Amino acid sequence: MRRLEQILRRIDGRGYKAYRDIRGTYRFEGFTLTVEHVQGDPFADPSRIRVMVPVDRTWIGQEHVSSTSRRVALRDFMTRRFAQAIRNLGAGHRGSGKSGLISVDVPGPEILDRSSCLLTDDVVEIRFRMGLPAAGRRILGRQAWTMFAQDVPRLVRETFERDYFREALEHCQTAEDADFLRQRLSEMGLVAFIAEGAILPRRSGVDFGPMEGAVPFGPVPDTLAVEVGLPNAGRVRGLGIPRGVTLIVGGGYHGKSTLLDAIAMGIYNHIPGDGRQLVVTDSGAVTVRSEDGRRVEGVDISPFISGLPGGRDTTRFSSEDASGSTSQAANIVEAMEAGATALILDEDTSANNFLVRDFRMQMLVHRDREPITPFVDRVRQLYDELGISTVMVLGGSGDYLDVADVVIQMDAYQPVDVTGQAREICRRFPTLRHQEATGSIARPRGRVPDPESFDPSRGSRREKIKSVATRAIVFGHHEIDVSYLDQLADPSQTRFISDVILYAWKHHMDGRTTLADAIAKAMNDMRRGGFDALTEGRFDNRAAVRPHEVMAAVNRLRTLRIV
Ligand code: ADP
Ligand code: MG
Repeated sequence: MRRLEQILRRIDGRGYKAYRDIRGTYRFEGFTLTVEHVQGDPFADPSRIRVMVPVDRTWIGQEHVSSTSRRVALRDFMTRRFAQAIRNLGAGHRGSGKSGLISVDVPGPEILDRSSCLLTDDVVEIRFRMGLPAAGRRILGRQAWTMFAQDVPRLVRETFERDYFREALEHCQTAEDADFLRQRLSEMGLVAFIAEGAILPRRSGVDFGPMEGAVPFGPVPDTLAVEVGLPNAGRVRGLGIPRGVTLIVGGGYHGKSTLLDAIAMGIYNHIPGDGRQLVVTDSGAVTVRSEDGRRVEGVDISPFISGLPGGRDTTRFSSEDASGSTSQAANIVEAMEAGATALILDEDTSANNFLVRDFRMQMLVHRDREPITPFVDRVRQLYDELGISTVMVLGGSGDYLDVADVVIQMDAYQPVDVTGQAREICRRFPTLRHQEATGSIARPRGRVPDPESFDPSRGSRREKIKSVATRAIVFGHHEIDVSYLDQLADPSQTRFISDVILYAWKHHMDGRTTLADAIAKAMNDMRRGGFDALTEGRFDNRAAVRPHEVMAAVNRLRTLRIV
């Protein structure tokens, strides 16, 4: 610590580059601090700092680390506490640009595996940023010393010396229960579970906290109810969405989309107080929507679209500007290629002509003149032949009643089992439309990306990659639009996706390996070497994602070519 003080005194008033001299590791009272990377100037991304605290100096107990779920949740929790400590500190500006700024990843409602806090048996490590202070471009060494000597120790004290034992334990237990449940869904024959009492709606489209005064979910009718014993919460009862084809019907504004959104985000664990802690979904469930204008490269959409005018091949379909229905077909086939176990669809975000073609339209426009095989004619096959379930919201078309296993009506935000009534209606009023699907359906073959079609360089920089919230990834000269990936939850995930793409391209794309395998190999390298194995020092604000989202991002790269 004294050595750091000496260096800062020596470089005080010098040009900003002299800050490089403080790179290295220093012993502080009760922790070790490493200056990992020093920013180039006061306006650049702040410097990367890590602090390592011996576990036995903290409130962390055996209870917090007794399972993988708990360790992941504990790290997530400590990032939150550190972020709170930074807010409490209220560290202000200390000069030009980002001088004086202290920041750490700020998690949202999802409990995620994050690179901002790591844990071994003995040491907990927090990774954060500091804007090393300057006046213009001249080093303010004294101010820097105050940050290191006063601010950082205070953040460490607030995070690790106040007693967060119970609060952290609740965080850990919440995550453990959700993971436990998620792992058991498939043996229980379920795609998703929504506990009674869950709060599903969010405060607004930009505030993902629970809506105040919302109607809690349930009671769940006995015919749909499932009970399960959890390690921490004990027995809970809720709505089980069975594998197969499930329709969520009901009048407009009765809470259908809200339920479906909660199911889509049930692939993640949620923090205590969120309301969706026990809304848990199979981690292979993928939201598929229509996304007109997206690029599609070499996807076999022929199960859904074939016989395009002009004889265009749809077994290897490419488009710079896909239509509503073709983009949705591509999204489904790509999700299947990524290994989806279930598809999640909402009529609100689907292409109408993709969902259904009713009897009268079948009479008017002959089958020969219609390239689209509507989803209603494939949804059963997806489950019967491939085991891929579908959960879909549909208020507008009764033709789906024939193909559903279960029909749930949302009535003033409450679930009602209307499966029996739906069957009865199908019996009394048989549909006149005829099934238009021919042939069986297969999982698409893996596509092999051409490594030459990736170019992360830009101008003088060999690699220019960055991400914009959960909306976009800048890859060299190109921007990948990920704003329609509804299950992308956290900006740190978007950042990590760009790391994984770059890493997979450098190490595993060789013109023979499929996209799925290249991403799986990258993810596997991470399982062994942690985030650092993939992120090349961009280390502090990454969060885990599924391979599905990484593949989805690659699929939207406008330069992508398939071998
Ligand atoms: P639908 O898809 O059936 O048309 P939505 O799910 O969009 O309906 O919900 C309509 C409105 O009701 C939304 O503003 C939503 O936030 C609100 N809402 C949904 N569920 C609840 C609930 N349990 N309690 C209170 N408001 C809710
Ligand atoms: Mg809706």
